Amino acid sequence: MGTGNAATGAVDIGGTKIAVGVIDATGKVLARSETPTAARDGFEAALTRIVTLLAATRERAGVELCGIGIGCTGPVIPRTGEIGKADFLPGWEGCNLVARLAAQSGLRVALENDADAAALGELRWGAGRGLQSLICVTVGTGIGGGIIVNGALYRGVGGAHPEIGHHVIDDSGPLCYCGARGCWEALACGPAIAAHALREAPADYPHRAGLTTARLCDLARQGDAVASREIARAGRYLGIGIANLVTLYTPEAIVLSGGVMDSAELLMPAIREVVRNNCTQVPAADVALLPAALGSDAPLIGAGAAWWHRYEGGQRPC
Ligand SMILES: [Zn+2]
Repeated sequence: MGTGNAATGAVDIGGTKIAVGVIDATGKVLARSETPTAARDGFEAALTRIVTLLAATRERAGVELCGIGIGCTGPVIPRTGEIGKADFLPGWEGCNLVARLAAQSGLRVALENDADAAALGELRWGAGRGLQSLICVTVGTGIGGGIIVNGALYRGVGGAHPEIGHHVIDDSGPLCYCGARGCWEALACGPAIAAHALREAPADYPHRAGLTTARLCDLARQGDAVASREIARAGRYLGIGIANLVTLYTPEAIVLSGGVMDSAELLMPAIREVVRNNCTQVPAADVALLPAALGSDAPLIGAGAAWWHRYEGGQRPC
């Protein structure tokens, strides 16, 4: 098949919504639509909606598809196409999304964890183009990451996705849902930053109601002392995690994405300072810390990239 006009179907499954799109061979989104995940209605109902939406979206884009890529929250088994045990997808464990979509569409289908898909998107079409080693870190409602080594997605034992958001930064820190204390995510994801601010702010702090990390960043920009302190702390903890990745992997680049990184201008000075101070045993200055390039469609574009990564140039072992 020639790939010049090839387009892929892309499916991004999150805890609250499923986005479906058509991505062309340059990473451009030709058409997109969304449906609520409604995970409790069951896998079959979601599959039916995905199939219907994909057909309508492809029709709108006016192209034929060469395959379908999927990025899915939580653990997945890329080799078999099964969904793992994800808190956000109760009852979906063991359902084989790849086999079912392939049977429905007659196309080859690739499934990856959504953080891995995001890394593949940045590698193929975003900030990591042309690089051989790259870690893509997403800081939002959690912290996730995908690791690229020698131009390919790194997979652990049995194809497992490593969870960099759960590496421990401070074992006297807050208890994480994973069972450990002071995970990176428990200290520095969006909700964790806001929760710490609420714990530490004076009782009469006027911005308590509905306080989010985005709001804290706005307040810090206005010079609010409490917010400035909390954002400095967040930058330090983000910096420790990133410095650990620099020391452990020394990749060509670490690409930073997610809602919290929309305030990169507030956070990067602290992050860079920690990397400079902590990473003295590796060439840390040569590790580029880059903003993600794919924007709000990154999860969909990543899902499309997951298909290309798996199947480009014929069938690859996963
Ligand atoms: Zn954890």
